[in-house]
Amino acid sequence: MAALSIGVAGAGLLGRLLAWQLAGAGHRVTVFDPATGPLERGAAGWTAAGMLSPLAELECGNEAVARLGLRSLALWPHIVAGLPQPVDLRHQGSVLLAHGPDLGAARRLLGLLSTKAPGGQPPEPLTPEQVRELEPAVHGPAHAWLLHDEGQIHTVQAMQALAAGAGDRGVQWHWGRSVRNVEPGCIDGQRYDWVFDVRGLGARPSLPLRGVRGEVFWLHAPGVVLHRPLRLLHPRWRVYLVPRPGELVVVGASEIESEDRSPISLRSTLALLSAAHSVVPELAEARVVHSEVNLRPALPDNLPHLDVAPGLTRINGLYRHGWLLAPALVEQALVAMEQPVHAEADFA
Ligand SMILES: Cc1cc2nc3c(=O)[nH]c(=O)nc-3n(C[C@H](O)[C@H](O)[C@H](O)COP(=O)(O)OP(=O)(O)OC[C@H]3O[C@@H](n4cnc5c(N)ncnc54)[C@H](O)[C@@H]3O)c2cc1C
Repeated sequence: MAALSIGVAGAGLLGRLLAWQLAGAGHRVTVFDPATGPLERGAAGWTAAGMLSPLAELECGNEAVARLGLRSLALWPHIVAGLPQPVDLRHQGSVLLAHGPDLGAARRLLGLLSTKAPGGQPPEPLTPEQVRELEPAVHGPAHAWLLHDEGQIHTVQAMQALAAGAGDRGVQWHWGRSVRNVEPGCIDGQRYDWVFDVRGLGARPSLPLRGVRGEVFWLHAPGVVLHRPLRLLHPRWRVYLVPRPGELVVVGASEIESEDRSPISLRSTLALLSAAHSVVPELAEARVVHSEVNLRPALPDNLPHLDVAPGLTRINGLYRHGWLLAPALVEQALVAMEQPVHAEADFA
């Protein structure tokens, strides 16, 4: 494809990934975002724990989401290898855990996996000895399974590295610019050959989006070694623990139908941290070094939206699995750009 002038509204996860890839393909890319600079952490992409869980996310997604996720898992290593700064990316599976009385909740998810998983290896039940070998810090849960086709990415490192990589490729950033109007080939009256609308919640009212509040903690836990994400299956709470370099563990995430971005509540604090402690008791002496709240951009069906018309691509509704879906959606969006007909991907 000939080099195009491309405008991108939004410099969150999707905007950065698109900018980096489009500039790498030789296009002239300009990005607009209301943040004051590349390190301001307004986008949901910063807050995400970075679980890459195509299978476990079947609980709140569908088979299409799982397929996109499996594709993204294959794409992330190539993306990370091309970035100018290191990004911690692991593909060592995740461990599902359930306490004795919560076996029913676990069986529900395992049932979904056996009927809806579009591929990948089935969950492998783990004996207590196998759990001790894989994750010696885990004590307490009576039931455990290994999901092989899952991973994690360090979202803060990736947001920074994508911006740096896109900058190296000549992307023009316009920080402090809130876009009001996106039309085919046009952002706020400025003409481009093609434009992308990836403003997350900022794309309202063009799309019927809502924000879903999520809260996470960062714990500094010297000496507590976790090798892969842990997900506790509980009838009321879905709690995961994601290890990060620097002896950090991210504990998340609440899911609340509210657009309140005020600090984390007492109720979520108790639920998330007691659940984490019930799985890894050594966390008792961890220090709470950071907590963060953000809104997941979601559509009424909680499914992703990819709409390509000549001169305009909209991607949105990545909800609770943006890091899982973004590479595969961007791949589809770039292929669709070369076919100048209106096409809306169907992920139902
Ligand atoms: C607590 C929490 C935990 C999560 N955990 C995970 C996880 O473990 N795994 C996973 O895969 N996903 C996770 N997610 C989901 C993931 O973060 C989102 O799905 C993803 O960030 C959505 O990407 P996006 O680019 O559409 O939106 P965002 O990353 O929110 O970016 C949108 C950008 O658009 C900009 N913008 C807004 N209005 C305008 C405007 N008018 N003009 C220009 N720009 C505008 C914003 O400033 C922002 O930079 C989590 C999210 C939260 C909140």
